[in-house]
Amino acid sequence: MEWKTFDFKGGNRKFGRKAGEIFEGDQFRCSFCSGTGILPGSKDIKCPVCRGSGIVSVKGPVVVCAYCKGRGEYPARTNITCTVCRGTGLISITKPIEVCEHCRGRGKEPGGSLPCMVCKGKGVITKKNDKER
Ligand SMILES: [Zn+2]
Ligand SMILES: [Zn+2]
Ligand SMILES: [Zn+2]
Repeated sequence: MEWKTFDFKGGNRKFGRKAGEIFEGDQFRCSFCSGTGILPGSKDIKCPVCRGSGIVSVKGPVVVCAYCKGRGEYPARTNITCTVCRGTGLISITKPIEVCEHCRGRGKEPGGSLPCMVCKGKGVITKKNDKER
C-alpha cells in the first residue's frame, strides 16, 4: 500500500495535524493538555506529559499517533495517557514510511483495541528497501 496523507475522522483537528503527515523538528505542542500545561479537567494540576510546559520533545521526523489519533489519551476522555505515544500525540519515525498493512494504518490490532503488534500502534512502518526483497 502506498503511503499517503489521509484524514482521520475526529482526528487532531485542533492542531491541524493530519494522520500520516510528517513533521520535522523536535519540540511540539503537547496534545494531552492542548498546550496549556494544565491537566485537562483540572484547575492547577500540571500536565503529566509536558510537566506543565505545554511543549513536548519528540525526536523528529514524527507522525501523528494512529492509536490515539493524536489526542494523547487513550481511551478517549479518560485522562489516561496513550501508551503508544506517552501522551504526546506524536511518534518518531524513520523515513521512508508506508502504511502498516496489518492494521491498515489504524494502529490497533484488527478486531481488538490493543496496539498493533507490527507497527506498535504507529499505523506506519519504515519502508523496506526494495533491493533486499
Ligand atoms: Zn501537556
Ligand atoms: Zn498516542
Ligand atoms: Zn499496524
